[in-house]
Amino acid sequence: MKKVWILTLLSLSLTACSLASSGDEQEAKEDAPASSQKEAEQTASDKEDQSSSGEGTEQAPADEKKDSSSAKTEKDKVLADGTVEVGDPESLQVVVNKNRKLPGDYVPEDLTVPNVPFYFQEDHPKKQMREEAARALEELFEAAEGDGIELVAASGYRSYERQKRIYERNVEVYGKEETDTFSAQPGTSEHQTGLAMDVTSAQVAFKLEQSFGETTEGEWLADHAHEYGFIIRYREGAKDITGYMYEPWHLRYVGKEVSSDVHEQAVTLEEFFGLYPSAE
Ligand SMILES: [Zn+2]
Repeated sequence: MKKVWILTLLSLSLTACSLASSGDEQEAKEDAPASSQKEAEQTASDKEDQSSSGEGTEQAPADEKKDSSSAKTEKDKVLADGTVEVGDPESLQVVVNKNRKLPGDYVPEDLTVPNVPFYFQEDHPKKQMREEAARALEELFEAAEGDGIELVAASGYRSYERQKRIYERNVEVYGKEETDTFSAQPGTSEHQTGLAMDVTSAQVAFKLEQSFGETTEGEWLADHAHEYGFIIRYREGAKDITGYMYEPWHLRYVGKEVSSDVHEQAVTLEEFFGLYPSAE
């Protein structure tokens, strides 16, 4: 019996390091704190959930600086704790962050799996994106390939319920205070929009780490993602604004018009839509 147990442990640890680990096993490793030890173990896990604690407490200004397809709408609802529930979750330009939450029951209606290489083979909901974003991601990957750039997709859509399970499990293990420094509370992950995809490459062993930004793949993305409607959502040095550290791997679809403007202005989505600084 003991042998079996040891073998099980061995195979589990191998699986955790392998690129083809199953969704559930991988999920257990997602959102692990970025301590150097844990970070070293991560393979394309969703470090996007790391965030600063207690920062970026801006709220949606009452007045609208931008019109049309702006991220904030009159339907936004201020909750009892001062955060906002976004009123237009299906907008391609929706801004979700620690202070702008998606409704718990929001599930995009047009989720589909983009035809791009993933770092794992099996079916998993996190392969999904919304239709328009998925088609754009395919174009982006195709263009990258044409330039000799080999990208690999890691993690897209994540349901409110899955984020809740991950968050609650982390609270059990690490306590709430520590968990809030690296794991997004349910409703605050941009992955719930179906408009985000974490992308990586062999050069960083398919991990989600900041050094990806210095690889040829990361540099190509920073230069070209906007041509396909995507932005690098969490810019370097913008943690006070976005609530997240630099994430060169986290692509967010906003449509070509907005992505081009955001790229040109070199600003965060919060700044672009007048959500930062706050109107207070
Ligand atoms: Zn991400």
